[in-house]
Amino acid sequence: MHYKIYSKERTSHFIDVECFIDNLTGDKVELQLPAWRPGRYELQNFAKNIQTFEVFDESGEKLSARKIAKDRWEVLTHGAKSIVARYNYFAQIINAGSSYIDEHTFYVNPVNLCIYAEGKINESCTVELHLREKEKIAGINNISSSQEKGTHLLHFDDFYHLADSPFIVSPTLKHDFYKVGKVKFHLWFEGNFQPDFKRIKADFKKFTQEQINVFGEFPEKEYHFLTWILPVPYYHGVEHRSSTMQVLGPDSQNFEELYIDLLGLASHELFHTWNICKIRPIELLPYDFTKENYFQTCFVAEGVTTYYGDLMLSRSKVFDETQYLKELEACFKRHFDHADKASQSLVESSWDLWLDGYNPSIPDRKVSVYHKGAIAAQILDLHIRKVSSHTLSLDDVMKLMWEQFGKPFKGYTMEDYQLICEEIANEKLDWYFDVCIKGNESLFDLLNRYLQLLGLEVIRNEEGIISLSKTTN
Ligand SMILES: [Zn+2]
Repeated sequence: MHYKIYSKERTSHFIDVECFIDNLTGDKVELQLPAWRPGRYELQNFAKNIQTFEVFDESGEKLSARKIAKDRWEVLTHGAKSIVARYNYFAQIINAGSSYIDEHTFYVNPVNLCIYAEGKINESCTVELHLREKEKIAGINNISSSQEKGTHLLHFDDFYHLADSPFIVSPTLKHDFYKVGKVKFHLWFEGNFQPDFKRIKADFKKFTQEQINVFGEFPEKEYHFLTWILPVPYYHGVEHRSSTMQVLGPDSQNFEELYIDLLGLASHELFHTWNICKIRPIELLPYDFTKENYFQTCFVAEGVTTYYGDLMLSRSKVFDETQYLKELEACFKRHFDHADKASQSLVESSWDLWLDGYNPSIPDRKVSVYHKGAIAAQILDLHIRKVSSHTLSLDDVMKLMWEQFGKPFKGYTMEDYQLICEEIANEKLDWYFDVCIKGNESLFDLLNRYLQLLGLEVIRNEEGIISLSKTTN
């Protein structure tokens, strides 16, 4: 599949797409637009943003393209070997997972607006872009320039790769990079923001190295941090195979606060390069873009990642102790203030991400796989440290998950994760999985028993306000 992505009229916020599909056989083909995007486990029905959709054969004859599902078309090809689908996509919302176009900035998350032909999802594909003068492309590793001035070809291994490779085209992108070992980490900034690259590179290098130390290697040859700073308040990031898209703001905010947000988000998203992009729940491997991909283990994908995002910043000394405890306290507050009495377990709330995971809960129903998931990860980490006299930790669990599932790119089950935890802890952990993962009892007292190991205590005062303190004795 080959895509031309452009805009006839940028101020209209419509992106135009032409998708060329070759080597067809038979007299019909089905075309599918993804119904959701990796990183957010809910149906988003991107097809609602398509205004017009037409398909033509190689001689320019219009073909019948009839919808057979909300985002799937059946095209009668009458034996045509090549066809082109021409459609446009409304891209007016800025967030880390959407696509957006205006006169200045062209941001594409291909999973929103690239269709695939059934049977061709594993074939390599290319995207053709025509850049204006001074425009640059951020986020893509494999780009070749054509002889035609301003024309660039972006190369992808297959549709999954394309769907997981956002890019920004803009004349005002600010760029620098740092290296850890042989891996090049690109830093791209868009928006009203003057990055202090010296400081950013020093801090990013520290937490990147710390994360690589956990796993022993980085999964990709090159990586891109794409950061868009907006004039409005924002805090949103999405992980991808070899990049992350982060949207932060407001640009008028106190710089140090914005910088703490940037560090917290970037460390979290980088950890996903291992944990979810490669160490993938079996139900999500491969992704089925047509429907819900239910899975029980988002407490590993998001909970462990949330715990490690800040832990890596602390361990690499990018965050001092005060900042780290502030982040821990915020996570505890979010859970114990809102979800301590929830009826659901982490496993149930992971499953129900597809139902209401990203909306406010009705009272006492669901838990956050991020916050309760991070608390569960911390309890497990401290338990392993305790039973191994501090010779082992959750690091060893994640390293083994990488070796057994991430590197060979083999999906893991809930049972696989428990077995690996038990192998590292060298004991059965049914109690932990029953209480912390599959249960709905409050973790308040249990967490406090383990926090003693760190000389910390969560306190709920008479007004019910949660805080984290150092224990005095
Ligand atoms: Zn995440």
